[in-house]
Amino acid sequence: MTLFEKIIARQIPASIVYEDAWCVAFRDISPQAPTHLLCVPRKAIEKVADAVEDDAELLGRVLLGAASAARQEGLEGYRLVINNGESAGQTVFHLHVHVLGGRRMAWPPG
Ligand code: 5GP
Repeated sequence: MTLFEKIIARQIPASIVYEDAWCVAFRDISPQAPTHLLCVPRKAIEKVADAVEDDAELLGRVLLGAASAARQEGLEGYRLVINNGESAGQTVFHLHVHVLGGRRMAWPPG
């Protein structure tokens, strides 16, 4: 089981703010912005590069879930980030969308 599957199964505590049939969103333990959520599909795919044709709906649903969670948190502008692979900064190998908001975001990202 991945760390995030354990959070989804309530085996590890987390501050869950949104969930639906496809995904669960909870607060990042090490927030990089005033609001920092992780939106995670219930089905564990390691990373975007491992998604297949059959995951097309899941990928869309995770973005919709991220937008719903952001709306619920009162965010207007926010940044969605998906790190794919270790060299891109991925540390938990269960696909997830970061939702960062509550401050102005710089570009380009680091
Ligand atoms: P990644 O680096 O893989 O894109 O993002 C993983 C995120 O998971 C990091 O931002 C990290 O702070 C967060 N994280 C790691 N362990 C936990 C945990 O046990 N609980 C929560 N809520 N977030 C975690």
